[in-house]
Amino acid sequence: MPKLEYAGEVCEGNAKLVKQLETVQMTAAKKILRCLSTTSNTVLRAELGMHPLKTNRDMRKLNWQYKVKSMPKQRLPAIVDRAVWEKVTKGRAGIRWDGVVEKVWKDIRGNQGEIMSAGKFGRYKAKVEESIERRERLALRNKVESEKHFEIYGGLREGLGMKTYLHGPMDFAKTLKLRFRVGDLDMPERRKRYTSSREEGEVGAQVCPCGKAIESRTHIVSECEIYKTERDVLEEEMRETDECEMEEFNTMNSSEKTIAILGDRWWPQEAKQEGDKISKKIIYNVWKQRNERPIVGGVSIRSRNGVPSRNGRVVNGQMTKASNN
Ligand SMILES: [Zn+2]
Repeated sequence: MPKLEYAGEVCEGNAKLVKQLETVQMTAAKKILRCLSTTSNTVLRAELGMHPLKTNRDMRKLNWQYKVKSMPKQRLPAIVDRAVWEKVTKGRAGIRWDGVVEKVWKDIRGNQGEIMSAGKFGRYKAKVEESIERRERLALRNKVESEKHFEIYGGLREGLGMKTYLHGPMDFAKTLKLRFRVGDLDMPERRKRYTSSREEGEVGAQVCPCGKAIESRTHIVSECEIYKTERDVLEEEMRETDECEMEEFNTMNSSEKTIAILGDRWWPQEAKQEGDKISKKIIYNVWKQRNERPIVGGVSIRSRNGVPSRNGRVVNGQMTKASNN
């Protein structure tokens, strides 16, 4: 990727190509993480602590602008900056580079004047980064708040950055935890996005086999009696972990419990690693138990590996695919 990004400071490239590059990067990430192609890119990047390629280019553009502005007048880039770009006339092919940079400034809502006068390059760079990070955080928040499906993810409130549970080589427990966190599982809460409500009703697949609630992550992790054994193991392990405040845990509602188990914030600092292990274990056990259960009514709504097809489903003659953004 860095090779393809060469000269990204001054060359924006073809918009379509830029988008394709971004897609290639995310497709690769999804393959490695073994999650569905329909998983939100924004949320996945937050999990990986990854910026969109555009962000890196934006950062480099602004840094380059600073360098050109503060470079001795006789240096070539400075001469080019004055001579060429200032002469480009309206209507001529090609985008003015300073226009592109202007757009980046607007986009990050950074105070250009204030940041440009930050003094040393290091301080300038830090301020640019800060503004860009703010834009990314805002984009993530908007994404998470715009879809009900991300309620649990929003509740985790872990922000941007490589999450510790993903450290080390990728294995099934990590994939599963990732998918529980982002909601990338074949359950009604997710299927709703791909299926018409009529079809979903006919299959009668919304209700958990226990008959007491619609099947959801919160239900299977924290409520359903079918998974009581798995939950007992979890609570036993929590009690054995000295730092865990079981009294506090027991006062939580199901949704809070699920968020505590899937997330990183509830576990005391000294028990974070242990917490991650315990959390992966219950998710693994619950999911295994769920998929081994005979399917009631003889109608299998689960595909081979328990996830909807990569290519979406045909609903009313139209392919449905989730938006990836
Ligand atoms: Zn149930």
